[in-house]
Amino acid sequence: MKIAIIGGGLAGLSLSILCAKQGMKVQLFEKKKYPFHKVCGEYIAMESWSFLQRIGVPLSSMDLPRIDELVVSAPNGNQLLQKMTTGGFGVSRYTLDRLLAEIAREAGVEVHEQTAVQALETTSEKAIISTPRDTYEVDIACGAFGKRANLDVQLKRAFLQKTQRQARHYIGVKYHIQVDGFPTNRIELHNFKDGYCGISKVEGNRYCLCYLTTAQNLRTYNNDIKEMERQVLYRNPYLKDYFERSTFLYEKPLAISNISFVPKTTQEKHLLLLGDAAGLITPLCGNGMSMAMHSAALLGELLAHFAAKKIDRSTLEKVYQTTWQQQFRTRLKAGRLLQSLFGKEWTTNWVINSLRPFPGVVRKLITLTHGSPF
Ligand SMILES: Cc1cc2nc3c(=O)[nH]c(=O)nc-3n(C[C@H](O)[C@H](O)[C@H](O)COP(=O)(O)OP(=O)(O)OC[C@H]3O[C@@H](n4cnc5c(N)ncnc54)[C@H](O)[C@@H]3O)c2cc1C
Repeated sequence: MKIAIIGGGLAGLSLSILCAKQGMKVQLFEKKKYPFHKVCGEYIAMESWSFLQRIGVPLSSMDLPRIDELVVSAPNGNQLLQKMTTGGFGVSRYTLDRLLAEIAREAGVEVHEQTAVQALETTSEKAIISTPRDTYEVDIACGAFGKRANLDVQLKRAFLQKTQRQARHYIGVKYHIQVDGFPTNRIELHNFKDGYCGISKVEGNRYCLCYLTTAQNLRTYNNDIKEMERQVLYRNPYLKDYFERSTFLYEKPLAISNISFVPKTTQEKHLLLLGDAAGLITPLCGNGMSMAMHSAALLGELLAHFAAKKIDRSTLEKVYQTTWQQQFRTRLKAGRLLQSLFGKEWTTNWVINSLRPFPGVVRKLITLTHGSPF
């Protein structure tokens, strides 16, 4: 069976490896060239550890920081510290996506880098993928093109209309920094007006500092990121301290816009969607990467049944949609609820004060936004 995967992030790369290992002929299209940095907090929940090892990422020998302590602060500096039951680990997307692309190539995937898919036609029988250089015909196409892509517009996806009308638009900004005295087993989540900023360690002597805020917040400061940081983020005393005493390792911030958390669909016109292209959890949950890989695992298994002619095309599509919903619905809802409580001066403070005496409730909230190993 011939399969095309559009988008070579965690979802697309994982699916390509799983399908190639099942004997499928896989073409993967990624518009950028590996390795490259990505706006992401780079904290991966432990539930993904065994999956990554299984598909060939040698996590145990990479000397990665294990993270089992969470600190959350309100804009005024009021804070809560919580031990996490399972926690996670830190690894940069620069390293992880590069490793997965290498593993995919070794497994026989044809990886087309610097190749943006410009158009696609899909039916229940076949798919035709158009890139600037060539056209490819395959049996099935899968979309793993992330939060928002040119193809969403071409497919006229419903979430775009809702985003324009009602939903808030967010931006994400990321740096790699060096900072003294930051515990390697800790992730800190510092709130500021209309946003929050996560800091945690990745491989080497580096920490990832990544924040999400409203596009409106940035517009207020004439789209000047540095000015917004000084005027808004610095009002949280922890963030002011980190911004002032860290060494910033990028020449300029890495930023993305047009992020929204409006529900999406798992397929469009027989194109099967996974990762952020199927649904985006709010970053404060630290579970988007695990969901991307987990959705690849779900779809990979069903595609293997389809390739072996154990299920037909319509069953493949229906079962994928149902399983995806069962697996991720609760997490997405919990994430939206938490997002509505954080990033506001009064509510964040109130949440922290209310939760501090109840570590069991905090642990339960963390569990609601996470899944089990897959
Ligand atoms: C601010 C922020 C912080 C976050 N922090 C965390 C965190 O700490 N932990 C966590 O688990 N999750 C976090 N996330 C979520 C996480 O980054 C995503 O859930 C994850 O990257 C989704 O993987 P993906 O493969 O679906 O998409 P992506 O990793 O975005 O990959 C999509 C790929 O598709 C490519 N592409 C797009 N269009 C085309 C096209 N037409 N042709 C070819 N290629 C195309 C892109 O170049 C990209 O490489 C965060 C998100 C944000 C915004």
